[in-house]
Amino acid sequence: MAENAMEDKIRRAAELICGSRHVVAFTGAGHSTASGIPDFRSPDSGLWEKHNPMLVASVWAFRLNPKTFYDWIRPLADLMLSARPNPAHEALADLEDMGCLKTIITQNIDNLHQRAGSRRVLELHGHLREATCIRCYKVEPIDPVFHNLVREGRVPQCSCGGVLKPNVILFGEQLPVRVLNEAMAEARRCDLMLVAGSSLEVTPAADIPFLAVESGAKAIIVNREPTAFDAYAHLVIDGDVVQVLPRVLKAVQELVELA
Ligand SMILES: [Zn+2]
Repeated sequence: MAENAMEDKIRRAAELICGSRHVVAFTGAGHSTASGIPDFRSPDSGLWEKHNPMLVASVWAFRLNPKTFYDWIRPLADLMLSARPNPAHEALADLEDMGCLKTIITQNIDNLHQRAGSRRVLELHGHLREATCIRCYKVEPIDPVFHNLVREGRVPQCSCGGVLKPNVILFGEQLPVRVLNEAMAEARRCDLMLVAGSSLEVTPAADIPFLAVESGAKAIIVNREPTAFDAYAHLVIDGDVVQVLPRVLKAVQELVELA
């Protein structure tokens, strides 16, 4: 994109944000690729060259063979623990601090929004902070002991003897109802939806921005590739969130100072 056209779009995005009363961001894997985290649901992620996702990361596979699941997720979990938030995460945290962003709805499980300082984050695909016993449903924190067990090739167990499953949403599992309901309420309530780093291909999570637009919100999408949502957005910025969002933040700060 020509720099002038990009500059115009950045300014327009800042004006939309400053002119809205309830802004909600929706983020996906593209938000964390600059932090070195692959999109674990994507066929291009490199995670599926040796594994069939349905045989390792589905709820059925987990119940049949949790050890295979843990062997698969260990390198990914290690990556997430060592990854750092990038400027796109930091820009959204700063917008929230300024009162210009109410909520982040994310498809990511990497905790990077929270580590960047974002406070209200709805994680549609769960997270790796806790695990739930698949027998008694007790919820346990995922702590260093848990990580050590996984590293030693053992399957973490609950005190009842049941297997502990990290609170990430596997293939074949429903999205967490409470989080999904809150996200849908945010989509209906917001007057601006900022989609950042998601191709909106994984439903039902991807339905959320469409719900916002159907409910009367305006929408901005920042993504490196075209998406089916572009036709519904009021502003499409084809670029990397890591470059675009810090510039949007700066433009918002300038507008706020002028006001
Ligand atoms: Zn248990």
